Amino acid sequence: MSIKESILNFQEKLKGTSCQLIAVSKTHPVELIREAYEAGQRAFGENKVQEMVAKQPELPADVQWHLIGHLQTNKVKYIAPFVHLIQSIDSLKLLKEVNKQAQKNERVIDCLLQFFIAEEESKFGLSLEEAQEMLRSEEYRALENVRICGVMGVATFTEDQAQLKKEFSTLRGYFKTIQEEFFHGAPHFKEISMGMSSDYELAIAEGSTMVRVGSAIFGNRNYQK
Ligand SMILES: *Cc1c(COP(=O)(O)O)cnc(C)c1O
Repeated sequence: MSIKESILNFQEKLKGTSCQLIAVSKTHPVELIREAYEAGQRAFGENKVQEMVAKQPELPADVQWHLIGHLQTNKVKYIAPFVHLIQSIDSLKLLKEVNKQAQKNERVIDCLLQFFIAEEESKFGLSLEEAQEMLRSEEYRALENVRICGVMGVATFTEDQAQLKKEFSTLRGYFKTIQEEFFHGAPHFKEISMGMSSDYELAIAEGSTMVRVGSAIFGNRNYQK
């Protein structure tokens, strides 16, 4: 299937749902992103700051760039002028830096809190308790240039459907808990970013509002270049 066909396929699949496709373009050249763009796709996900910053000026200004990988505080400044959504907030320190850089750019940056839901030690993310502690703090409440729009999680790399379902439902539970305590009645707090190429259907069934799909659109990634 061509990139264009895959995008159209997803548009068809997601029509009438409240789930949005984030096309994960990491490691792929701008020509392929352009192909997806021409099929109507606007939201793209990258996991590395350097790569996003290199691609951004090459593509139309209405591309929505989602940062989905671990973000180091010293790199926030490079994406602050244009990033659409930072999906990987995993500490107050990082959120404070995003706020500072957003202020410098006279904007508010939308963010998701990344939760640790997998069984693998290697994955990043907050626990529910850490997130609650952060959102209760005076320091967080003083931040005026960031807006928390929901939660994000990366499930275990497994084909075990029951395991995946459990992790997705855990993330949805975190979303509900955080929403009730901190964002009750706030319409912008609405995103549950979960699901990738191999498990997006299950994620949608479990309430995902953003699936992050890479290889099912662009093909396999080749990391050694
Ligand atoms: C790479 C990546 C994806 C997309 O993975 P695919 O299996 O290619 O769909 C989704 N989310 C995150 C955080 C990623 O790093």
